[in-house]
Amino acid sequence: MRPLSDRYGLRLRLMIMSLVLVLLATLAIGAAVTWNYSRLAKNDLLTRVGIETEIIIQNVSVSILFDDRATAQEIISTFSADPSVLSAELYNKEGELFSQYQADVESLKTASFEFKREIIFQEEIIGYMLVEVSNQEIRQQNFAILVFLVTVSLIVLVVAFSFSHPLINSTIQPLLKLHDTSQRIAETGDYSLRSPVTSSDEVGRLSLAFNQMLNQIEHRDDMLEKQVRQRTTELEKLAEEFRYRAFHDNLTGLPNRALMDERFEHSVEHTLRCDNRFACLLLDLDDFKTINDTKGHEFGDDLLIEVAKRLKATVRAEDLVCRIGGDEFLILLNDLKSPDDVNTIARKILTRLGREFVLKSERFKTGVSIGGALFPDHGTSASEIKRHADVAMYRAKAAGKNQFCIFTEGMQDDVKYRLLIKNDLKPAIARGDFEIYVQPKINAVDNQIVGCEALVRWNHPQEGFLTPDKFIPFAEEAGLISDIDYFVIRESCRKQKEWTTLFNFPIPIAFNLSGRHFHDFKIVEVLQNAIDEFAIDPSLLEAEITEAVLIEDPEKAQKIVHAVKALGICISLDDFGTGYSSLNYLRTLPIDTVKLDRSFVSNIVESVQDRRLTRGIVSLAQGLNLRLIAEGVENEKQMNALMELGCFFMQGFYFLRPVKTSDFLQWHLKRYTKSILSRQRA
Ligand code: C2E
Ligand code: CA
Ligand code: CA
Repeated sequence: MRPLSDRYGLRLRLMIMSLVLVLLATLAIGAAVTWNYSRLAKNDLLTRVGIETEIIIQNVSVSILFDDRATAQEIISTFSADPSVLSAELYNKEGELFSQYQADVESLKTASFEFKREIIFQEEIIGYMLVEVSNQEIRQQNFAILVFLVTVSLIVLVVAFSFSHPLINSTIQPLLKLHDTSQRIAETGDYSLRSPVTSSDEVGRLSLAFNQMLNQIEHRDDMLEKQVRQRTTELEKLAEEFRYRAFHDNLTGLPNRALMDERFEHSVEHTLRCDNRFACLLLDLDDFKTINDTKGHEFGDDLLIEVAKRLKATVRAEDLVCRIGGDEFLILLNDLKSPDDVNTIARKILTRLGREFVLKSERFKTGVSIGGALFPDHGTSASEIKRHADVAMYRAKAAGKNQFCIFTEGMQDDVKYRLLIKNDLKPAIARGDFEIYVQPKINAVDNQIVGCEALVRWNHPQEGFLTPDKFIPFAEEAGLISDIDYFVIRESCRKQKEWTTLFNFPIPIAFNLSGRHFHDFKIVEVLQNAIDEFAIDPSLLEAEITEAVLIEDPEKAQKIVHAVKALGICISLDDFGTGYSSLNYLRTLPIDTVKLDRSFVSNIVESVQDRRLTRGIVSLAQGLNLRLIAEGVENEKQMNALMELGCFFMQGFYFLRPVKTSDFLQWHLKRYTKSILSRQRA
């Protein structure tokens, strides 16, 4: 059970208290007045009835003396004039009832009192009288007083209430307001609320003190809130910075791999919902490592920043350009209308990035290889699309860089061979899984062997027999081509020595050198070592190079080619007629032989234009005093056509496919024997 103070408010309690006090005071006064009045009324009654009794006693004493009962009776009956006298009994001195009076109202007897008076005649008691008096009169008077008092009390209460109510209200109101304010603050936590100060008394001062306390709390609160706000802003800023750092690339400010992953998933979901397509372009700057190594990291960084700017400026705002690695960028082209759009955009990127950069006041050009894959055409998940764009990008690199390739199913093999190269190449060379095949070079005029070319093969334990197109591009890409070429150089020298010393067959042997060798002089050292090790005549060695050697650093490459030439080794320009075919190379490089590319030969019979071009190359070679050899001769017609045009040195399946060195030797010995026999017969 709750205490009284909880159940009734302060106002009610004060009201009840004041009214109870007023009531008690009224009652106390009423009781005193009533008591006094009833005492006085009783005295009055006794005096009156006493006087009546005295008068009657005086009149009746004679009747007693004369024993006149009738008169006594008559006299005593005069008490009937006073309704308060209930009965009167007159006794003689012997104590006998002499006469009596009895009032009619019997019921009043209950509340009465009596008194006794002696009757004295000449100082002698001659009898006495017992008078019984009713209280009724006093009671009635008391009742009237009570009614009066109650009425007065009520009036006093009403008056007290009407006076005390505003008084209490005025006293208690500020307290209640104080209470209200504190309660509202407790409920809302709003410390800006204030209690009104309506007086300067204790309650007013209490309100004032309360408000001051609130001021302090609010001030402290404000300070705290300010501090918290400041701290929160700092934290938010920090979090934002962290988020930015986590999702953006420091150098270019582009989204990084993490953000790309998120957006990629988003693009997949969006595309599935809207039933359209998006493209993923993977870009890798060509030869960025060389740029970094030769021009310095700062230059490389500046280039990346510029590339990022151009990429952003090329695509639409809703497309996403990210930097996902050193020189790798990824672009998401959302909501493509047609699959062809990706071609258009990729070409635009190639054009824009192909334009000159001015970095550190140096004019500079670079290429980029782009691979593309479409969702959902080329994969069902973000990771698959990314993988396929990567495959296409490597294909673009392998196909000569600075170009765009869109993914096709056939490219899957690339991935396999790239892995193969990465993991198996070195142990394969050590194990002797590589082998050189040779193909003869023939002088079609007398059908004599003028040389041969060493072509590498890989006998992979799981993949089987692999031709160079399956692994050379990936070995170049992985920077492992040198290991293959060094192996081929040593094997070529070994065979050359063997054929010369054992079979008196001193035939020139050619080996292919990747363009990758032509940025340092290591290849010169390797060649020199091989020549020394096998003690062979360097003029019987031939290095086949392509124009690609000059792409990265033409000046240095030229120096290296000259150094190779200086060893006494012959230089052949391979695949002539394809690629840039700058005739300048023919003058700047120390070339002995030009190898006419197979593509001219394959159409030479049918194509007038190819014949015309071939004739041009023939006269060019003659003019520069270079030996010309045609590659890929597959039939007699092609051979004849070439001879007609003035090209007499040839290589091709028509004469012999590339074969094992042992088979090559047998083939040669057979031909040699045959020719000797025919000569003898002749
Ligand atoms: P390449 O230097 O132009 O070599 C000639 C390619 O033409 C050889 O392909 C050869 O098998 C092929 N060939 C020869 N005659 C004919 C013909 O009549 N018809 C047709 N269709 N093809 C013919 P292979 O052996 O597959 O080599 C391909 C390329 O791989 C070579 O082209 C060369 O660029 C590269 N390569 C081969 N061995 C090496 C090597 O040891 N080091 C380097 N760096 N590259 C090599
Ligand atoms: Ca070759
Ligand atoms: Ca060739």
